[in-house]
Amino acid sequence: MEAFYTLQGEGFHQGRAAYFIRLGGCDVGCFWCDVKESWDASAHPVQNIAQIVEEAKKHAGRLAVITGGEPLMHNLTGLTQQLQDAGFETNIETSGSSALTGNWNWICLSPKKFKAPLTEVFEKANELKVVVYNKSDFSWAEQNASKVNANCKLYLQPEWSRCNEMLPLIIDYIKENPQWELSMQLHKYINVP
Ligand code: SF4
Repeated sequence: MEAFYTLQGEGFHQGRAAYFIRLGGCDVGCFWCDVKESWDASAHPVQNIAQIVEEAKKHAGRLAVITGGEPLMHNLTGLTQQLQDAGFETNIETSGSSALTGNWNWICLSPKKFKAPLTEVFEKANELKVVVYNKSDFSWAEQNASKVNANCKLYLQPEWSRCNEMLPLIIDYIKENPQWELSMQLHKYINVP
């Protein structure tokens, strides 16, 4: 769908220069999704992996973030292998709702209520990032946290349109449950993509 060089705004790698590769197609259907134009994969041109990697190499950073849409709707083995061969770290942002393919340095699982993650993604996730839209999402976050591996980092992130209401609740929750950390959408504050 698009690719751009920016700073990672969320989660464990927040603040790092990163080349984002956004793939078209998503069957999850979050009502608050801020990239609904990604949902229809056929609306976006098919691109050659070698071309994608060549574009990525034009920038100094060697962190590639594959996102969507739901990137796991595609088989990502070829893309991630060629990125790694070119010296990139490969990170994915996924809802975990489709089979895991690809070679990953970091898996960020952001589960969605609308289509549950697969067990294999829970087991391999390096980072669990739960978007908090309302109060009930704290117990839902804990349900998801009970399914990840012991080394998985845990993040709570306010849904952007609900940030003013949810942020104070998240701060209080993290102070009481310090295994969680706060993730803000830094890119939206510093006005980068
Ligand atoms: S999984 Fe991501 S791309 Fe798909 S609908 Fe939800 S927020 Fe949007």
